Amino acid sequence: MPSKSPSVLLPTYARADLAFVRGEGAWLTAEDGRRFLDFGGGVAVISLGHAHPHLVAALTEQAARLWHVSNLYRIPEGERLGARLVEATFADTVFFTNSGAEALECSIKMARKYHAAGGQPERYRLITFEGAFHGRTLATIAAGGQAKYLEGFGPPVDGFDQVPFGDLDVVRGAIGPATAGILLEPVQGEGGVRPFAPEMLRALRKLCDDAGLLLVLDEVQTGVGRTGRLFAHEWAGITPDIMAIAKGIGGGFPMGACLATTAAARGMTAGTHGSTFGGNPLAMAVGNAVLDIVLEPGFMDQVRHTALLLKQRLAELKDRHPDIIAEVRGEGLLLGLKALIPSTQLQAALRENLLLTVGAGDNVVRLLPPLTIGEADIATAVEAIDRTCAQLSAARTSDPKTGAAA
Ligand SMILES: *Cc1c(COP(=O)(O)O)cnc(C)c1O
Repeated sequence: MPSKSPSVLLPTYARADLAFVRGEGAWLTAEDGRRFLDFGGGVAVISLGHAHPHLVAALTEQAARLWHVSNLYRIPEGERLGARLVEATFADTVFFTNSGAEALECSIKMARKYHAAGGQPERYRLITFEGAFHGRTLATIAAGGQAKYLEGFGPPVDGFDQVPFGDLDVVRGAIGPATAGILLEPVQGEGGVRPFAPEMLRALRKLCDDAGLLLVLDEVQTGVGRTGRLFAHEWAGITPDIMAIAKGIGGGFPMGACLATTAAARGMTAGTHGSTFGGNPLAMAVGNAVLDIVLEPGFMDQVRHTALLLKQRLAELKDRHPDIIAEVRGEGLLLGLKALIPSTQLQAALRENLLLTVGAGDNVVRLLPPLTIGEADIATAVEAIDRTCAQLSAARTSDPKTGAAA
């Protein structure tokens, strides 16, 4: 029986009138029994599909043993997950959070504290990029700089200097005596699946080294295999000083982390930061289970193989439907279709054809399937997109007013 619309919930989301009762792999079953192919993945969260048996086992085993103890005590599952993240990355140290925004908050505080600990507390500002998204807390909406998220919430938190996307000279010009570092997503997700060029990332790394700045990467969306490497910055052959992750590391369990080098974390001593729930044993058990799979030899090769296949098929669809799809963009399984009709209309039509996607800025529809997606499910998705584009084209030809600009 369909439930009533959840009118007691704060109406901050324009929700689709759709509720799901079950998930399995890349598939979601709705209350009315319809099965949807999930290429939204709870916004890049469902890294290993729904109800992955290894994750279910890890969570239920931990749930039966111990839920929560607080960070006043050692949490061995978290020590293990931290050690594995350190082993697999540039980082020497890890702080666990419950969300992406909190991972960013820790990153921002750490970048400021680094300079304060070095005797330069006046260096607290971060350079950020137009189109960025770093979360919805007061500091992270200021970092993201998007007017629609800042509007009406009082003076934005001070300390962020936003520059246009991808212009190195402007970045150089924005560096001043108060600059602490540079913060960016290697591929802007919410901003419209916009990758920074590898040369740009290398140039920013060098700029930071030359000016004594910290490079802070927001890999909340791009991390944990999403782009075909464990972390997206690996494509550019650089490492950050600080990195925020979340989404994929929990595979659906809410968790995030701030990773850093020992040097960058020098100011974060006992008492400087904390979280009641961060690093909770349940989250740590799931995070370890996600790593069990993602770190398996050959896993990332498989992701790259699948991603290439999907991207090729999408490129064919763009050629077949040049009136609907302007461009296929993105890295790995963080892909975007730039639409020639309103992207919300394309997304709704895809949903009618039982394919779930996520919107993004720049009139882009995001495709974020599980990293474990198989070729049969890719074929189903491609067929749904093909059919949807054909329907939208036909509707446009018969009634030009339904489409956007011709
Ligand atoms: C989703 C996201 C965030 C915010 O994460 P929350 O868990 O919603 O707080 C921050 N940065 C990027 C790049 C994201 O995609």
